[in-house]
Amino acid sequence: MPELPEAETVAGQLRARILGARIKDCQVNRLDIVRRGLETLEWYRGARITDIVRRGKSVVLACSREADTRYLVAELGMTGLFLFRLPDPGYRKHTHVVLALEGGQEPELCYWNPRRFGRIYLLDRPGLDEFTARRFGCDPLSVGWEAFRDLVRARRGRLKALLMHQQAIAGIGNIYANEILYRAGLHPYRTASRLRDATIRRLYDVMREVLAEAIHHGGSSVRDFIAPDGTKGRYRKRHLVYDKAGQPCPSGCGKAIKRLADERSSFYCPACQRR
Ligand SMILES: [Zn+2]
Repeated sequence: MPELPEAETVAGQLRARILGARIKDCQVNRLDIVRRGLETLEWYRGARITDIVRRGKSVVLACSREADTRYLVAELGMTGLFLFRLPDPGYRKHTHVVLALEGGQEPELCYWNPRRFGRIYLLDRPGLDEFTARRFGCDPLSVGWEAFRDLVRARRGRLKALLMHQQAIAGIGNIYANEILYRAGLHPYRTASRLRDATIRRLYDVMREVLAEAIHHGGSSVRDFIAPDGTKGRYRKRHLVYDKAGQPCPSGCGKAIKRLADERSSFYCPACQRR
């Protein structure tokens, strides 16, 4: 958390409100948050934001000056947020980077993160390509059916671990992996390589449906997630199994949702998702 739908919500709001804006100043309050390229920070002052995209659970700002383009990659990690304004002064403490902007609809963009799992990278084009190739597998929203099928067939491990493995499929974390597997009727511990094609197809379709629906609802506000404009994601109300151990299965099968205490807590229905 934030996962793909939240990162996509963030990127969408940034595109709508600050694409084309010029960076007047960038202030870094915690130097260790910038993991690479801190020495190039000065270059970004005066650059224009010319593109904003999501990669996995990260947001990438392309910044251009004359013919040159560099990138600011922000990992949202477990708790990272981009905010146009701080909801209250208490947020100041963990606001690590502030971009002062002109020419867009917002005067400022703040990167806030109370835990230090999220980081910022300042990269040139080769740096971005290398970073992307190393960190991000295929995107679940754009991967073709055959490529996805081959990926699942080739994986001998557990299905849920595959869905969450960022170097294989980038963007799905624990919340959406649980929701996708429940809706596809698949136990989280099924072995990926043993699934039949028709089953993989069902998983592929459900994965894309769940993520698209979650983006449509602005993501899920679990823990502290709020969008850059301060609003909460509405998809949490539509969760069927995540964090619902002990509650009746929404299918009406009569069983209760169970929690498997593996390292990331799997929530599933023992009747609807058989091993
Ligand atoms: Zn059930």
